[in-house]
Amino acid sequence: MTDNEKILYDDGTHKCVMFGFDDESHEDSFLSVNQYLIVQNGSGVLVDPGSEAIFDDLYEAVSRHVEIENIKFIFLSHQDPDVSGSIAQWAISTKAKFIMSALWVRFMSHYGFMEMSRIMSLADHGAKLKFGNDYLKFVPAHFLHSPGNFTLYDSRSKIVFSGDIGAAVVTSPEDYKHVDNFEKHVEFLHGFHKRYMGSNKLCRAWVSHVQKLDVDIIAPQHGLIFEEKNVKLFLEWLNELQCGSDFMSELY
Ligand code: FE
Repeated sequence: MTDNEKILYDDGTHKCVMFGFDDESHEDSFLSVNQYLIVQNGSGVLVDPGSEAIFDDLYEAVSRHVEIENIKFIFLSHQDPDVSGSIAQWAISTKAKFIMSALWVRFMSHYGFMEMSRIMSLADHGAKLKFGNDYLKFVPAHFLHSPGNFTLYDSRSKIVFSGDIGAAVVTSPEDYKHVDNFEKHVEFLHGFHKRYMGSNKLCRAWVSHVQKLDVDIIAPQHGLIFEEKNVKLFLEWLNELQCGSDFMSELY
């Protein structure tokens, strides 16, 4: 266990680990980047492994939890460099299949990735994938913020890996843990979501899907995780959020 990782779930056969490797920091705001690993009976799924700059550190950290050759899937919630930038490095060092929206497959060559046959592309409505004794569900989250965007639900740990949904720009890396006081945390959520998320209608579509699942943790790709009562509070907040095209007149 190091400062850069936190075990979110562990029942002896199934484990979820959160990592926090960053390649940039700014003086007054800090966009911490989270990477995640799911391991069941020695097989791994890597979630949003991030940019090329953190590849070596993440590789070393992941290899303490799973044999790198046993990483079966690498899920990319969307196309951004802080999510997918290291795809070429992971392609060389694993035999994993890459799972992402069909919309972004052709763009991966710009990250130096050429093995298109290793991509399992997701159609807009998502998919369900058997993983060990359990399943992984790829829940559509389009325009939140990317036009082709998915979140990942792990049925065993009951964690939603939510990509940029729930991302917070915290004031210092020391804040980097779980949400304590939701009301206070809203100030770190609001600006990001207002600008980066598509619209209230799109937020509501995702919330209604997630509310049908049995969820213990929402784990975003930036900032802090939501546990226990904060899961419900966050979903209620997002359901009411005005964002993106709701502010058209401010943008044009
Ligand atoms: Fe993004």
